[in-house]
Amino acid sequence: MEMKYSMLSPTVTENRSQFVRIDPGNVSRKPLFGLDAEALAAVMVEMGEPGWRGRQLAEAIYCQLVTELSEITTLPRALRERMGAGGWEVGRPRIAQVFTSVDGTERYLVQGGGDGGETVETVWMPEGDEGEAGDGSGEEANSGTRSRATICVSSQVGCAVNCQFCLTAKLGFQRNLSAGEIAGQVVSVLERHGVEVGRERVNLVFMGMGEPFLNYDNFMAAVRLLVDEVGLSPQRMTVSTSGIVPGIERFALEPPEFRPKLAISLNAPNDEVRAEIMPINRRWPIEAVMEAVRKVKLRPRERVTFEYVLLGGVTDRVEHAAEVGRLVRRTGLAAKVNLIAWNPGPGIGYTMPAASAVERFRAALGAEGIPVYVRRPRGRDIFAACGQLKRTVDSEQWSD
Ligand code: SF4
Repeated sequence: MEMKYSMLSPTVTENRSQFVRIDPGNVSRKPLFGLDAEALAAVMVEMGEPGWRGRQLAEAIYCQLVTELSEITTLPRALRERMGAGGWEVGRPRIAQVFTSVDGTERYLVQGGGDGGETVETVWMPEGDEGEAGDGSGEEANSGTRSRATICVSSQVGCAVNCQFCLTAKLGFQRNLSAGEIAGQVVSVLERHGVEVGRERVNLVFMGMGEPFLNYDNFMAAVRLLVDEVGLSPQRMTVSTSGIVPGIERFALEPPEFRPKLAISLNAPNDEVRAEIMPINRRWPIEAVMEAVRKVKLRPRERVTFEYVLLGGVTDRVEHAAEVGRLVRRTGLAAKVNLIAWNPGPGIGYTMPAASAVERFRAALGAEGIPVYVRRPRGRDIFAACGQLKRTVDSEQWSD
């Protein structure tokens, strides 16, 4: 299959390397972005200033979206200069490259403040993906309005989990992102699209590169920043895990005011098939994952999502649907299933399911009484669809 790249943004084809490595330049030595109001107050106190200046800083960085110290005009100029001389800077991750799909999806390479200036992937889907709405409404996500826009966020550079159908796995694990690098992806995208937080509804899905529950502390610190400082609702956030049981158990203890909704990347009808496509299943088989999920106290109307990638001939048979139905029912959880037709990627030996197989699977699962949604692939042409995130900028390997 030949992919067309004419819709990619300029400069992309000039770079023939497969991964982008951007010169870190002035990497922030001491980024303020990523610190909560309390930590910002501590910075101020350390500099001999009153603690309430921390609130001014938080307001400037997370609400006014200021990116330069010099623009924080609520602080005296002399203080800003002292901070700069002391190595402090806003240090928010920035969008380094943009790829635009014919369907309006945008994929970004976002550069954090870490060593080496690696980039991670963030995706903006203006009309959601026809999966869940993400706002607890139980509606499908595609109303065709901006109010359903969804941002897909990365939590690690690369990933150690090694799901066999996923391009990110090919990178291997490189490093965890900091809380600021995770929250910074969101804030940068909100700013790019002029989203007015509080007036417009935007959903976040932590389903980009990486396994959030293997970077638990930074992931949850980012969520708290996004809730407390940026003003987003955790009920419009969904975190997806491949089934890291200790992480799910910690997550179950999070207070509801900071806990996003939970999605389990199930992808198979039973342990045998799952272990083949997700080696993590050998460590934590399906029943262990389900037992941990049952510990999460769902809010009224909240449901756990089971993500299910349909691999042609591997996980898309109608008898698999019946098995998934029984499995989900047996959990006793308020649940739904999001079906994702697998998105092809270079070097991965699976095939896309036929459209008729997707429909048969959906109907069979629905007949089992399970709420089921088919997520429309977004940004496939720019490698932005599920499982395609690998910092790809080049098309040369893409043909079969
Ligand atoms: S699907 Fe998610 S958990 Fe699995 S390898 Fe890819 S990024 Fe990691």
